[in-house]
Amino acid sequence: MNETAELRKRVAQACRVIGLLDLTPGTLGHVSARLPGTDRIFIRARGPAESGVRYTAEDDILEIGLDGKRVDGKSDGYSAPLEVHIHTEIYKSRPEVNAVTHIHPSIVVLLTICNKPLLPIYGAYDPQSLRLVLDGVPTYKRSILIEKPELGRELAGVMGNKNVCLMQGHGITTAANSVEEATLYAIHLNDIATMNYRAYSLGDITTIPQEEQDAFHKMKIDTGYGDPIVGVPSGRAANLWRYYTRLAEDKAGSGQRDRP
Ligand SMILES: [Zn+2]
Repeated sequence: MNETAELRKRVAQACRVIGLLDLTPGTLGHVSARLPGTDRIFIRARGPAESGVRYTAEDDILEIGLDGKRVDGKSDGYSAPLEVHIHTEIYKSRPEVNAVTHIHPSIVVLLTICNKPLLPIYGAYDPQSLRLVLDGVPTYKRSILIEKPELGRELAGVMGNKNVCLMQGHGITTAANSVEEATLYAIHLNDIATMNYRAYSLGDITTIPQEEQDAFHKMKIDTGYGDPIVGVPSGRAANLWRYYTRLAEDKAGSGQRDRP
């Protein structure tokens, strides 16, 4: 399989992992990846034969330009999602980004609705997701559809150089070096948001002490996130991705879900 076909396959697989982990409902959400060395991307498309994020097939992945239009010019009913501008405007402004996800995880969105900030409530329990909170997670304060380039630029401006961004009453956007890392950031953000949600529900939250927050923030660990292998995860990120793809396969194979 050549590199381009392989990338298309990885984008479809990332969509299925997101769906199987229930990180987004139904057909709402998309993953994209930059085709190396080009101004084109692969993105989960919307069209007549799609069956939702969980069942994304390679045929559901469309090649588009950074103008949001199909490269092949075909008219088979498939087109880029309405919110393609989330992806294209991030790619235009951040050359280091090779993959973007945009999804609607309910717990994370609930916290934005109730104005509950993500708190550093644990440490060694999961340092990777803690790091997101310690780095600061920006929030795009509007709940509208990002259906115009200027709105995509506005979101990209709020997100800055971060890997994750909350979208008030809407969802999240993640951006990273590879499809796998961008998806893992979405999983990590959902994980710490879920623990925050539970902690807020129980009450009497204790955040970890400032000195421990500082220690985790400074800690240098070989995570494989953002390593200089363009478009490919390595180290712990690659290992964790293997875990999630196997988990998704198990869930699909157990009869809980049908495999596309
Ligand atoms: Zn959306």
